[in-house]
Amino acid sequence: MRPLIAGNWKMHGTLREAVALAEAVQAGAAGLPADLLICPPFVHIPALAAMAGRTVALGAQDCHAAAKGAHTGDTSAAMLRDIGATHVILGHSERRADHGETDAVVQAKVKAALAAGLVPVVCVGETEAQRLAGEAEAVVRRQLAESLPDDFAGIIAYEPVWAIGTGRTPTEADIAAIHATIRDSLVARFGAAGQGTHILYGGSMKPGNAKAILALANVDGGLVGGASLVAADFLAIAAAA
Ligand code: PGA
Repeated sequence: MRPLIAGNWKMHGTLREAVALAEAVQAGAAGLPADLLICPPFVHIPALAAMAGRTVALGAQDCHAAAKGAHTGDTSAAMLRDIGATHVILGHSERRADHGETDAVVQAKVKAALAAGLVPVVCVGETEAQRLAGEAEAVVRRQLAESLPDDFAGIIAYEPVWAIGTGRTPTEADIAAIHATIRDSLVARFGAAGQGTHILYGGSMKPGNAKAILALANVDGGLVGGASLVAADFLAIAAAA
């Protein structure tokens, strides 16, 4: 399948910086061997959605599980769709840690995203303690089982928590093993659709390690944090796909 390289901008950038970064990504997008998705902070989505000749897909970093209602400070999936997003990252480990999001909450958000016509990018991944205890595969299997609804259609991102923003990554063998586990789980539950589901790797993906990681079986792209804030690095990762 054609790889997808997604940028998770997290809580970075003024409007001016976001537009400049999106323009630089857009300028380098033609002819790459991967599709591109950028996920800026909510407030920058309308400006980026309005960019002329846009070919880079646009996503958000979270949504609420409810369609509307008394949820001060929250944003619904339908609102994101309305302003031009097509994708939404859900269950990122920073949301799980900072906002106490459980697998059940993530599943409710995935359902809301699907109902609104957004493609959910669902993040799973073990902590360092869980990996050291030999529990990485079991944790990921459980997160998939409990975060995905029966009608799931979307993208999975494997992001070991201890690799995010640390400059450390699992070995290639460890990445391949978890991605194979994820593929098995998806195929067991969703059949042929599971075979066609993109499984992204995320966690300290950089131009220097992207080629080796993206060449692994069942690695269908990347979810890039820090390196997605530098257009040349993000494009270099996509060029390595
Ligand atoms: P990182 O973040 O690339 O900065 O490690 C990845 C992510 O959290 O999605």
